[in-house]
Amino acid sequence: MVKAVVGANWGDEGKGKITDMLAREADIVIRFQGGANAGHTIVNNYGKFALHTLPSGVFYNHTTSIIGNGVALNIPILMEEIKSITDRNVPVPKILVSDRAQIVMPYHVLFDQYEEERLGGKSFGSTKSGIAPFYSDKYAKIGFQVSELFDEELLKEKVERVAEQKNVILEHLYHKPAIVPAELLDTLHEYRDMIKPYVCDVSAYLDEALRAGKNVLLEGQLGTLKDPDHGIYPMVTSSSTLAAYGAIGAGMPPYEIKEIYTVCKAYSSSVGAGAFVSEIFGDEADELRRRGGDGGEYGATTGRPRRMGWFDCVASKYGCRLQGTTDVCFTVLDVLGYLDEIPVCTGYEIDGEVTTQFPVTAKLGKAKPVFTTLPGWKTDIRGIRNYEELPENCRRYVEFIEEQIGYPITLVSNGPARDDVIYRKSRLKGTK
Ligand code: GDP
Repeated sequence: MVKAVVGANWGDEGKGKITDMLAREADIVIRFQGGANAGHTIVNNYGKFALHTLPSGVFYNHTTSIIGNGVALNIPILMEEIKSITDRNVPVPKILVSDRAQIVMPYHVLFDQYEEERLGGKSFGSTKSGIAPFYSDKYAKIGFQVSELFDEELLKEKVERVAEQKNVILEHLYHKPAIVPAELLDTLHEYRDMIKPYVCDVSAYLDEALRAGKNVLLEGQLGTLKDPDHGIYPMVTSSSTLAAYGAIGAGMPPYEIKEIYTVCKAYSSSVGAGAFVSEIFGDEADELRRRGGDGGEYGATTGRPRRMGWFDCVASKYGCRLQGTTDVCFTVLDVLGYLDEIPVCTGYEIDGEVTTQFPVTAKLGKAKPVFTTLPGWKTDIRGIRNYEELPENCRRYVEFIEEQIGYPITLVSNGPARDDVIYRKSRLKGTK
């Protein structure tokens, strides 16, 4: 049985916490896309951790953590991350890395930086982790698969071939130092030795695991609006953030994915550039940013302050639809307890017409938010475990949003810890 945890919006919805929670019942947790460019924040009995590459199952003894073929694998960062958790007394996790995963090369990170420098103010707000150059090379068929590290002859020939092409761009477009093939080869030998203990034919491993009835959890990074096809292109990430891609990025049949948990935050936040219709500014935004998440809304990887906004029903309905949501996890609801009134974006006005359908990027720039204001509940709801015990206005907020997005909110998160969760019966459950 396979479940997926994915985001409905721009990322940072609290997927890490939900995955960590659901991982309790999982035998295997898999990362299937993205790289070390985004992060999950997890609070558990070992402390507070920011994970970038490792799946959120690494804190349990009973789970196997897998880095699937769809991931942009940065080998030294993975090694550092393993060390950072074992240094803090987390038992050594069982980790497998797909032999078909491709490697983020040192020059990918450099190209990312050089390109942002070249674009200046017109940059995409990249985290400069090499993700876009990595995926460009993957689809241009000049990427390096983990398996290739173990074929010396192939590796040497390919390093020389790729360096020749990259060096033209380094010299003429960026005016930067050239790649020295012998040095790159040495680096790849180091990578080979680091990754060797973890390499696995992951799709064969999963085939066997699924036949044996194991529970598998797919862990998505970012959210629908950052998907290269269905998101706010070009202000998107370079690999698909949709649950459907989990089948490809892990190497399993699509019909195995039975439950799709789409995580939505009770307000909005976004990192990087791009349209964000329900965005707020000034003191209102500063206060929500300061109170948001667990210790403020700042990027887990970059530390950048996140852009803030009210809940966006238009974007979230679309985000849930593209994910194929079976359950919505509604997170950080506790944070809104300070507000007298809470605006919710229920429509976009584009050229004088109001729509609830999320438009293409060209139109999105023109969209103005239409807000409906709901009363706040003005209490701290942390510690509540029973939905009926939430203040009436708080329940009204949840139910109003459920009605607007049309997908069942079956899980409400009211604090950063594993147990800060309320399970809820939804009349919408089973209607999709
Ligand atoms: P992810 O990338 O989707 O995992 O999101 P983040 O790592 O940015 O997580 C959002 C932040 O909110 C983290 O600091 C979490 O610890 C925190 N968090 C998650 N759920 C809740 C919640 O229900 N309430 C509060 N206050 N914080 C939460």
